[in-house]
Amino acid sequence: MVHGTTRIIGIIGYPVRHSLSPVMQNSALQACGLDYVYVPFEVVPEELGNAVSGLKALGVSGFNVTIPHKTEVMPFLDELDQSAESAGAVNTVKNDAGRLIGYNTDGDGLVRSLMAELEFIPQGASIALVGAGGAARGAIAALCRAGARRIVIANRTRDKAAALVSLMADRFPCVEFSTADDFECLEGCLGEVDLLINTTSFGMHLDNRRIVCLDNLPPNARVYDMVYAPPVTSLLRDAEQKGLRHANGLGMLAAQGELGFTIWTGSMPPKGLMKSVLDSICHY
Ligand code: NAP
Repeated sequence: MVHGTTRIIGIIGYPVRHSLSPVMQNSALQACGLDYVYVPFEVVPEELGNAVSGLKALGVSGFNVTIPHKTEVMPFLDELDQSAESAGAVNTVKNDAGRLIGYNTDGDGLVRSLMAELEFIPQGASIALVGAGGAARGAIAALCRAGARRIVIANRTRDKAAALVSLMADRFPCVEFSTADDFECLEGCLGEVDLLINTTSFGMHLDNRRIVCLDNLPPNARVYDMVYAPPVTSLLRDAEQKGLRHANGLGMLAAQGELGFTIWTGSMPPKGLMKSVLDSICHY
């Protein structure tokens, strides 16, 4: 029930109607008995600055930021947390007494999901990562903070992978970075890899094409696909067939949401509730 005292949290994106965050966040807010409501706001790119000023003027408690605004929102905020600085993108904003502070919980959400679902510890690990967009950037920063030893990146547009490696190598000099010229070259590097992550939207295509072949991965390697719609991508189907431990991006979505919930409300959501809500609406 919405009262005169109810506080607002939102999500801005374009489009935003596909977002699973409203149902996941409202379930957790209700379970905790907190007097908040989480609402979607579809914001066209030309209105981003006005929308952020409007949310601030309305005194919302905070909001999530999704595609295509994660980088573009940054100049409209008052302050950036270190998580947003190192990822170069914001997915969570807190309104702290009129100051908008940007955070990035995507990367830490990924690390939490890897630990929870695949028992994967990044410390000392060798990781192959496909993609060089915003999600890759957040993921690499969080994996480096969590102690990854070696990261090799392949991207459809090779120059973007090279630019990302150069940026991250400056920030994390203890990590050994490299780029693979293309996806086939990456396949040749998989023999000593502990984890392969797909950070591209490739798996959203409902067909049997492969982004990389998993034949060279060691039997104890894990495979993670950030895509969660469809819940089983061709990459995950391959991993399943090869008996490799694997997970889709639903756990990451839930974990980034749990972190945001605590940033906004100061409370912890009930353990596992967000993931169960997502599992119940995304059928395998
Ligand atoms: P982005 O910044 O637009 O980057 C897209 C990436 O995908 C780029 O590396 C792009 O390569 C690559 N790509 C797109 N289509 C491709 C294709 N057909 N073949 C090969 N590579 C292709 O997007 P993003 O923010 O990084 O998001 C990427 C994916 O991660 C999306 O599917 C998003 O839903 C997912 N994601 C999931 C979560 C979660 O919580 N599970 C969180 C964040 C993002 P080029 O550089 O060559 O264009």
